[in-house]
Amino acid sequence: MDILKELVAKEINRRDFTKLCAAVAAVFGMPKAFSKDIAFAAENAMKKPAVIWLEGQDCAGCSESLLASINPSVAEIVLDTLSIRYHETIMAGSGYVAEKAREDTIKEGGYVLVVEGSIPTADDRFCMIAEKPFREILLETAKNAAVIIAVGSCATFSGGIPGATPSKGRGVTHFIKDKPVINLPSCPLKPSRLVATVMYFLASGKAPEMDKYGRPLAFYSTLLHENCPRRGHFERGEFVTDWNDSGQREYCLLLKGCKGPKTYTDCAQVWWNDGANFCINAGAPCSGCSQPEFYNVFSPLYEKQQTFNIGPNTTVNLDTVGRTMMGVAGAGVIVHGLGRLASKSNDEEE
Ligand code: SF4
Ligand code: SF4
Repeated sequence: MDILKELVAKEINRRDFTKLCAAVAAVFGMPKAFSKDIAFAAENAMKKPAVIWLEGQDCAGCSESLLASINPSVAEIVLDTLSIRYHETIMAGSGYVAEKAREDTIKEGGYVLVVEGSIPTADDRFCMIAEKPFREILLETAKNAAVIIAVGSCATFSGGIPGATPSKGRGVTHFIKDKPVINLPSCPLKPSRLVATVMYFLASGKAPEMDKYGRPLAFYSTLLHENCPRRGHFERGEFVTDWNDSGQREYCLLLKGCKGPKTYTDCAQVWWNDGANFCINAGAPCSGCSQPEFYNVFSPLYEKQQTFNIGPNTTVNLDTVGRTMMGVAGAGVIVHGLGRLASKSNDEEE
């Protein structure tokens, strides 16, 4: 099936498609000419790469995030460019038929494996599919995959929210050590990141440049705190302390649990839902969902972190900072200084 015909049917014209390919090239820091390779890969319908999308301990929120994307045409480009052979939430088949589709695809090899949800470490019985431990399903499916992409907080690092439950769920890299895994953490998945990563892989045949946590630098190299729209209030020492005080509506959310000073993400530059909004702008503190510390270390999410890192061996107690703010006119300058040091410290750790 010709993807261009499909795009026309979806009223996406050639110009928009070219713009999308150029945007994918730009996001990964590739020269403009690379967008032609991306377009070629997407148009090469005969090659429709197979995809197996596994779901472990999850809420299906990442699938939902992609499928209910405000601009469905973008998600459809990926879904239509790929041949989804197995996806529990959207496939029509079930039972033996569904499992056979997965097994046949594994035999063929060279497919894209997307993993959503965590894998239990306490006891396999916390997550069984078709009478098989999900851990075994993951390992046998990973074996012949051309690329493995772990999406959302549960499938990455310490297993997101299931990681804090008795099942002790963990992310894909806890189990797969012999081949690279591209981590796209956040709760839920940010669709544009998966679209761009898949298109980049189709065009180049390799994973994009990643940080030490396996996150593409294109999305996870900037500190949220440095780009935050509330940063000016942080600088002036203006913090939300009372949710009911409308006068504090725009203030910095640090004392309400914001993890922005410890979180690397492009959320402040590339807003969610096709640029509609993102957590902090909507009034919610960042919960650090793209970091390895999410959820266990960063919880409770709406309570301020007791300590603020200002160096590898130095921390400051936020209660002390808070008391200082109440009594000293230059408190903003003090907190700003701490923020600067914290940012510097985080950069050094990277
Ligand atoms: S602490 Fe949070 S709300 Fe405050 S400036 Fe930093 S990222 Fe923004
Ligand atoms: S702003 Fe923070 S909590 Fe919100 S999506 Fe981005 S990293 Fe996650």
